[in-house]
Amino acid sequence: MKEQLKEIQATFVQKLQHVADAQELEQLRVEYLGKTGVLKEILRGMGKLPKEERPVMGALANEVRDALEESIEGKRQELKDRKLEEQIGREWIDITLPGKRPTLGHPHPNSLTTREIIDVFHSMGFVLEDGPEIDTVANNFDALNSPPDHPSRDFSDTFYFDETNLLRTHTSPVQVRTMMKQAPPIRMITIGRCFRNDALDATHSPMFTQCEGLVVDEGITMGDLKGTLEQMVQLLFGPETQSVFRPHNFPFTEPSAEVDITCFKCKGAGCRFCSGTGAIEILGCGMVHPDVLEYCGIDSEKYTGFAFGMGIERVTLLKYEIDDIRYLFENDQRFTRQFRR
Ligand SMILES: [Zn+2]
Repeated sequence: MKEQLKEIQATFVQKLQHVADAQELEQLRVEYLGKTGVLKEILRGMGKLPKEERPVMGALANEVRDALEESIEGKRQELKDRKLEEQIGREWIDITLPGKRPTLGHPHPNSLTTREIIDVFHSMGFVLEDGPEIDTVANNFDALNSPPDHPSRDFSDTFYFDETNLLRTHTSPVQVRTMMKQAPPIRMITIGRCFRNDALDATHSPMFTQCEGLVVDEGITMGDLKGTLEQMVQLLFGPETQSVFRPHNFPFTEPSAEVDITCFKCKGAGCRFCSGTGAIEILGCGMVHPDVLEYCGIDSEKYTGFAFGMGIERVTLLKYEIDDIRYLFENDQRFTRQFRR
């Protein structure tokens, strides 16, 4: 039996030398030390030995087992070290090579316009207000002097949740909320998403971003409105840009106007961009209707105000000479990447 053990140990050592990876090592371990392994087989034969030989042989068998286990452990460590060395060799890095720059994100053109407009109005002392995209029919229509039969209230134009709640069709509810919570003087702008049941085409989108502004104080006149908007237009589109006020009609302002600016592509000469007129419509505005002030709890005998609103997408399209609003919502990187600064 002693010979047998010696023999086992010798062949084991030989086989161990040829082991190339962890898997082969495990196979060898099972072959020799497993439950049905060579060593267990030998130990089973111990019962046939004379009683006095058994402890000696037992001790020897344990010795052999310990030796095998130890060499397996040694081999395992050796394999691990070798693998690591190979990996280090493989993954060697040439630190003199130029690095790859990670692609950095950048603002969407609409965000660029938004930030610019906020900066322009901050410089004129306006406060930025915010309001919910889901608002009440009262805030969206009633407060703004919109007659009950006004076409904009129609189900085909407005997304209603129920009789009292809707997706705001403009950012004017934020003006209403501001007037209701704050006494004049008020000088605020708000920028946010609005929703109308419009088709999606080159110039319309059911979701769009609006910027509205409101000033309410004693003695505010149409002259203040004109001065403020002219300054804004020049800051946004360049100092040579002229603005023209055309009379218009909105339920929430009286008098009301639409503002055209000099086409910045042809400088007023007329081109395809401005349909040959030399001017581009940019916003709607007017003096806040006394009914709107009164609805919001402001004394219309004491205070007057002006309000204006414009589409952020429209400004973006104009500023960057983009001819289709859908580019702004598709997030095609071939488009958005062009606005990387
Ligand atoms: Zn033009």
